[in-house]
Amino acid sequence: MDEYSLEMLTAIQAAIKASALCQKIREDLVGGESILKKDRSPVTIADYGSQAIICKMVRERFPNDTIVAEEDSKELRRPNHSNILEQVTHYVRAFSPNASSKEVCSWIDFSSNSVSDRFWALDPIDGTKGFLRGDQYAIALALIEEGVVTLGVLACPDLYVDIRQPSGERGVLFIALKGKGSAQLDRHGLNKRNISVSKVKNPSGAIITESVEPDHADHLTHQRLAQKLNISKPSLRMDSQAKYGILARGEVTLYLRVPSPSEPGYKENIWDHAAGAIIAEEAGGRVTDILGRPLDFSCGVKMVKNHGILVSNGMLHDVVLKALEM
Ligand code: AMP
Ligand code: MG
Repeated sequence: MDEYSLEMLTAIQAAIKASALCQKIREDLVGGESILKKDRSPVTIADYGSQAIICKMVRERFPNDTIVAEEDSKELRRPNHSNILEQVTHYVRAFSPNASSKEVCSWIDFSSNSVSDRFWALDPIDGTKGFLRGDQYAIALALIEEGVVTLGVLACPDLYVDIRQPSGERGVLFIALKGKGSAQLDRHGLNKRNISVSKVKNPSGAIITESVEPDHADHLTHQRLAQKLNISKPSLRMDSQAKYGILARGEVTLYLRVPSPSEPGYKENIWDHAAGAIIAEEAGGRVTDILGRPLDFSCGVKMVKNHGILVSNGMLHDVVLKALEM
C-alpha cells in the first residue's frame, strides 16, 4: 500500500458518512420556520453526530493518533439536553446501528484540546450559519505532522459538482496529499478528477471569495483592495472552507479573510483552515496570513502566530500582499 493510503481511505469514508448524516438532518429539521425561531438545535445535532462518526472511525484505525475537534460532550450529557442526545444517537445509528447514547458521547470525547506531533484536526460542521441558511457548509478533516498538514479531506455536501451545471449534481469531496496534488470526488467517493487553480495573471481578472458573515471578515477592506487592483468582477460570498475548494478548482482566484472590525484581534482555529489550506496548495495555490507568513498549525487550537488569511492562485499572491499593506 502507498504511504497514507489507509489515512486517506479512512478520512474519505468518514467524511462521506458525516456528509450523509448532516444532509439528512438538514432535510429533516431545517425548515424556514426553525431559522425564524432561531432554533440552532439542528446544527447542534449535526455537529455532534458528525464528530461522533468521524472520531470513531479515525480512532478505530489509528488508536495512537490525537484528534483535535471542535466539540466535547459536556453540554450534551446534561439532563436538560437529553432530547438532543437522543436525536444525535438516532442519526448516528444510521451508520452504527447498535450505538448507545453513552457510546456516542464517548466517541465525541476522543477529541483532545491539545495538539501533538501527529494529530487530526476536525471541524465536524464548518459554516454552521450556512448550514442553517440552506447555503454552503463543509466537514473538514486534516492530518498534521510536526506542524505540517500532510493530508486534507474537505466534504462540501451541498456544493455543485460542476460549475457549468450549477443546478446539477451536488456533493463534493476535495482531497489532497502533501506533494501529490489535489483532486475532487463526488459524494460517493467516485469520479475522481485532478483539480488546479486558475491561471489568471493579471489582478484585474481575479475573482475574490469571502465569508458571507460580516463578523467573520472585513468586507469593506476587501472591497477597497478590489478597487486598488482594478478587480471589476463582484466578490463571491460563500460560507465555510468550500471557499478553498472553489479556489482549488479554479473558479475563483483569491480568498481574502481580513479580520472583521467587530473582532480585529481574532485568531483563527486550526480546524477552520488545515484541510482547506493543503487542498489549495496542492492545487497550485499559495496560502499565508495577510502579512505573508505561512500558517502555523503547531501552536494549539488557535493560530496565534497568524493574522487573517490570504489564499491565491500563487501568481497573484505577492501583488495582493503588497496591496494589503495600504
Ligand atoms: P466562514 O464560513 O468562512 O465565515 O467561517 C466560519 C468560521 O468562522 C467558523 O467556523 C468560526 O470558527 C469562524 N469565526 C468565528 N468568529 C470569527 C471571527 N470573528 N472572525 C473570523 N472567523 C470567525
Ligand atoms: Mg468552522
